[in-house]
Amino acid sequence: MEYYSNQISRLIEELSRLPGIGAKSAQRLAFHIIHMPKEQVEEFARTMVDARNNVRYCKECCTLTDDELCPICRNENRDHRTIMVVETPRDLAAYEKTGKYEGVYHVLHGAISPMLGIGPGDIRLKELMMRLEGDVDEVIIATNSTLEGETTAMYISKLIKPVGIKVSRIASGVPVGGDLEYIDEVTLLRALEGRTEL
Ligand code: ZN
Repeated sequence: MEYYSNQISRLIEELSRLPGIGAKSAQRLAFHIIHMPKEQVEEFARTMVDARNNVRYCKECCTLTDDELCPICRNENRDHRTIMVVETPRDLAAYEKTGKYEGVYHVLHGAISPMLGIGPGDIRLKELMMRLEGDVDEVIIATNSTLEGETTAMYISKLIKPVGIKVSRIASGVPVGGDLEYIDEVTLLRALEGRTEL
């Protein structure tokens, strides 16, 4: 990339580290940024830094939030005795979009994958078990229907059953290998309503 100035090369390099951004897209974005009004670029940079600095894990459900507790955990009208376990904040958002789920969530931030060396200690499972010491009626496991998601669901159900809390798994209407966030709301609702007890 010697034909670009050092600064542009650096910008392209940084951008190409983002997921889904190949060399070509990185170049296109870099030139777009160079041509943006300066104030806009500064605002953009500030937003990124602020988000990185201020966003943290919710003390209760571990989703990403600006405050100690996320808006869902803070909401007294939600059913705090029903906890839906999801892999990522994006999965949580997918269920929230249906507007039909009244319980609360627990975000694992990943799934167990022996192949990738991700064990139970690498996801937010300990936090979930601690929550179960409170008043909980049901844990709905809504991890993805990938191998990792199923492994995680099995692991969690084995862990929770001895505690005596009802554990259910969303219906397999969700396509195998499908990421929850790409599934339409009707399918998600059907999966939730058709959940089976483990
Ligand atoms: Zn929360």
